[in-house]
Amino acid sequence: MGVARVYLVGAGPGDPGLLTLRGRDVLGRADVVVYDALIAEPLLDLAPGGAERVYVGKRSGRHAMSQDGINQLLIDRARAGKTVVRLKGGDPFIFGRGGEEALAMAAAGVRFEVVPGVTAATAAAACAGIPLTHRGLAGSVALITGHQAAEDGDAELDWPSLASWRGTLAFYMGVANLAGICRKLIAHGLPADTPAAVIHWGATPRQKVASGTVESLPARAEEAKIAPPALIVIGNVVALREKLRWFESRPLFGKRIAVTRARPQASELAALLEAAGAEVITCPTIRIAPTDDPQPLKQAAAEIGTFDWLVLTSVNGVDALWTALQSHGLDARALAGCRIAVVGPATAERLAVFGLRADLQPQTYTTAALAEELRSACKLKGKRVLCPRSDAAPPDLSDALAAAGAQVTEVVAYRTVPDHSGARPVLEMLEADGLHWLTFTSSSTVTNFLAAVDARRVARSSVRIASIGPVTSRAIRSAGLSVAVEAENHTVHGLAEAIIAVESSRKDG
Ligand code: SAH
Repeated sequence: MGVARVYLVGAGPGDPGLLTLRGRDVLGRADVVVYDALIAEPLLDLAPGGAERVYVGKRSGRHAMSQDGINQLLIDRARAGKTVVRLKGGDPFIFGRGGEEALAMAAAGVRFEVVPGVTAATAAAACAGIPLTHRGLAGSVALITGHQAAEDGDAELDWPSLASWRGTLAFYMGVANLAGICRKLIAHGLPADTPAAVIHWGATPRQKVASGTVESLPARAEEAKIAPPALIVIGNVVALREKLRWFESRPLFGKRIAVTRARPQASELAALLEAAGAEVITCPTIRIAPTDDPQPLKQAAAEIGTFDWLVLTSVNGVDALWTALQSHGLDARALAGCRIAVVGPATAERLAVFGLRADLQPQTYTTAALAEELRSACKLKGKRVLCPRSDAAPPDLSDALAAAGAQVTEVVAYRTVPDHSGARPVLEMLEADGLHWLTFTSSSTVTNFLAAVDARRVARSSVRIASIGPVTSRAIRSAGLSVAVEAENHTVHGLAEAIIAVESSRKDG
């Protein structure tokens, strides 16, 4: 413990999900993260907020920092007692100059560890549906640099051996030299009809594959406009792709979908859509902020035992109430005498984190259904009901409960604050008409999004709108936009399912 170390960490091929658990662990403890181009942005968020982040990758052909400069930076930070994570694409010891960096650490007497990563060849081939080895087809695989395949710079490569290699050939950094690579292999005796493919941004939502034979591949790649980063795979195994192309067959592959929720809540919907193959653009136009006047909530928390019902309509409400309880030194036991109603499963799950189970959750996850079911579940007359809500919440819930005779205390538990900075990527995609879906999970996300992005811009593009339920749909329509699909089940799962159903039927049809 306490020993400063440099960790050479393999970040995987570009999908943040392909980082190893050990990689995540050391990133979480990093004081400094030194990273290259091609690193998935979300990985940087795994480091503590205060960690120093240094970009040393290439910018348009130029290195932001020389290799000596990088080595020195790692040594200096390690000697200053920092925990340094050197985050490298794929695996650090495969064409990443990780070996050189490790040698520099060894020479400087800096303790280092290597955290292996998923290298581009295995990731891209797996996601292109090409097993790199396969019984009867390929008993070996060679990882080769295509960088040195240029006419004059291939001293390290033994072309006659590569051409007679009976297994699979995987070339990294070879796009610029693709025609030369194929020509040399054929010239040295590789049959011209050997199956071959090139995989651009493999294992990511941007994956694009061109395939053919070693003879036709250069033309196919040009037609498909394949650019770096891409991996070239040559060998009989490439033919298996026809049957094994699972990645592009996922229902939302190739679809760009905007999620308009505030960041803490965006991740669940984003994960569901990504699992179905979509490229998700998170576009929060609000931030959740503490209330300006915490007193009413604190007061309610102090007297929580005097309420008959606690009604929670969002995860944020649960969190804010919990913080208020803690400020009085209280915990879950303070709620012993109080029954709890929630609007839907996300709120219920959040409660469960604090060891609390909801007594009531409506069949349909709307505040109207919540009020209705509360009314029919018990006599509300004279009952004290606490509703911690957002400053922007409509009065419908408390009105309905009050109409049933309840004594409702509605307190502002948190605020939603406009923050338009997150909308820029979506604006650009709308302008280029490159966005396929916009998702809305509440009427307030509609209002907030349309405060940042003019509804006419949305209407002009061919983007389709998915809504979580009828209240949200009403808000969308009243802005003059049309709803392409509304979730039957008013949860983020239901919303993802609705989009998947539409896209699947379009693919089939
Ligand atoms: N250390 C890395 C390789 C660095 S060299 C690793 O182990 O993967 C960079 C080359 O890797 C690129 O030119 C490209 O050939 C390949 N590459 C990286 N990410 C890729 C991806 N997602 N899909 C296809 N090839 C990729």
